[in-house]
Amino acid sequence: MDSLRRNQYLQAIGVDVWVSRRPAATVRTASVDAVILPVAPPTGPTVTTWESLRAEVLACTKCTLHTSRTQGVFGVGNREAQWLVVGEAPGAEEDRRGEPFVGRAGHLLDAMLRAIGLNRANNVYIANVLKSRPPGNRDPKPEEVAACLPYLMRQIELLRPRVMLAVGRIAAQNLLATDAPLGRLRGKVHHFGELNTPLIVTYHPAYLLRTPGDKRKAWEDLKFARSVFRGLTPT
Ligand code: URA
Repeated sequence: MDSLRRNQYLQAIGVDVWVSRRPAATVRTASVDAVILPVAPPTGPTVTTWESLRAEVLACTKCTLHTSRTQGVFGVGNREAQWLVVGEAPGAEEDRRGEPFVGRAGHLLDAMLRAIGLNRANNVYIANVLKSRPPGNRDPKPEEVAACLPYLMRQIELLRPRVMLAVGRIAAQNLLATDAPLGRLRGKVHHFGELNTPLIVTYHPAYLLRTPGDKRKAWEDLKFARSVFRGLTPT
């Protein structure tokens, strides 16, 4: 990625970039080469399984949220992606459109992902802990998480991601089965499930919209996640 595009991405997520006054301009942030991974088209049987899971989610009545939602929000992205991003729950715009992270927080998430070479059309899959919108965007209740988390687990089984990024406290705590605060979960590699999939924790983009001063820390998390991914042995 050239430095102009890199700076545009950083500016898009609200991270100030510092440019040297010397003629050969350098930028204080690390390089963020685009990682556009070659991805094979989904295979027949996988599509069937994904589709049946999706149908199950869209018809789900396991918790009371189905009475207030417009529709279930299954997930989006490449079903062969090596990266999985997990958020909390659909908001109003997601509930309306049936796709995760399409509101203001979603635009910021897209910019954050683009900064490390990821985008939902190509090389990342995005899903939430809850598939239905909690009214008024309140925190998920434990019984709602208990009803819905198995869907996310089955998505993870199908996807078999090589690296996972949990955005926000709710995603991180539920994936890692901990009540540790987000600040203690950031900055280290956790391991998820039987495959020991590396999992990195960062801030939720909605939090970053409210607290832009922490965007730089989120950028550190993203670079950290990218370095973990790059350090994996090739498949
Ligand atoms: N916040 C989330 O955690 N997920 C979404 O899909 C949208 C906003």
